[in-house]
Amino acid sequence: MPFQCELNLDCLLSVGSFQLFMNTIRYYPLAGLAFLLIYFWRKDYFQKFRIQSKDPVRSKIVFEIRQSAVTLFVFSLIGFSVFVLSRVGILKRNLYGDPDMYGGIPYLIFSFVLVTIWHETWFYWAHRIMHHRKIYSWVHLTHHKSVNPSPLAAYNFSFTEAIFEALYLPIFVQIVPMYFPLLIFHTFYAMILNIYFHSGIELYPKGFTDHPVFKWINTSTHHNLHHQKFNGNYSLYFNFWDRIMGTNFPYYEESFEEVVRKKESFVLNKNTIIQ
Ligand SMILES: [Zn+2]
Ligand SMILES: [Zn+2]
Repeated sequence: MPFQCELNLDCLLSVGSFQLFMNTIRYYPLAGLAFLLIYFWRKDYFQKFRIQSKDPVRSKIVFEIRQSAVTLFVFSLIGFSVFVLSRVGILKRNLYGDPDMYGGIPYLIFSFVLVTIWHETWFYWAHRIMHHRKIYSWVHLTHHKSVNPSPLAAYNFSFTEAIFEALYLPIFVQIVPMYFPLLIFHTFYAMILNIYFHSGIELYPKGFTDHPVFKWINTSTHHNLHHQKFNGNYSLYFNFWDRIMGTNFPYYEESFEEVVRKKESFVLNKNTIIQ
């Protein structure tokens, strides 16, 4: 595995290219595919799932694609720097390649749950701080240029915000040792969910946000509303921090139901026409 080599030119080249390749090769094709499916190839099919009826603006999409490259570069740079710092002894070497270390499956599950909770907490509070008026314009404004985001807005961050978005992971790994493939999987599902939250479509069913269990999970509508209205709905995977801190938009559940109702009436109208 690329993180296991020692500090020499070959090793640095392989770690650097792994970082760039892994980040870039999974993001652009997946976010691009989601974009093409929803807004071009299967536009008619996905119309009923759309949260906002207008298409994302072309110039904004070009901006999102360009700015995502900045984010991918920052993510790779941080991964590379963490590797170097761990080799010169400044950071701990806490990534491991043997799944049976630390007791196997129970520890893998434990570290996976913990990194998810930590990411959620880091994201919520960092996001709230980034909305402070003294910081907002030079850190977070770039991300909010997309009022009607496309899947390619998932990594639309300023250089500074990209650093904050990535920093939670090296901090976590300094405290909790992680199985390297599990860490890659964590970053992968975080990216997939992020693309979904910016896709502009809602796939969850009616009643999701009122359900005693599912209401704690975030929907695509939740983050889409954040892009439309700015000061509320800050959380990431779960609707935990927003609920207990009272920062959900008061009309969140209502807006979600409206999006789902639109989908149902779309299907109903289509069936009526066919009959
Ligand atoms: Zn966003
Ligand atoms: Zn925000």
